[in-house]
Amino acid sequence: MLNSPSDSGREPWERLDALLRTDPDDPGCSVSRLDIDVYAELSIKGGDPVTRFPGVAAHLRSCAECHDDLEGLIAALSRTD
Ligand SMILES: [Zn+2]
Repeated sequence: MLNSPSDSGREPWERLDALLRTDPDDPGCSVSRLDIDVYAELSIKGGDPVTRFPGVAAHLRSCAECHDDLEGLIAALSRTD
């Protein structure tokens, strides 16, 4: 017999849904990728890419693919200093 574990409060799915919900500031992959190299450069130079590109920052929070791209760019740019 299956007893569901006592669940007090919210379903984890609700939080996941909130994460996946499109941010109104999120311009999407294609637009974010136009600025992602500058974003990476600013990250390395100690600039403030989040303030300069709030839309890209919002997108990176919800898109693992672009976030991976950013990490790759940062790694590549850091290598060639
Ligand atoms: Zn993306």
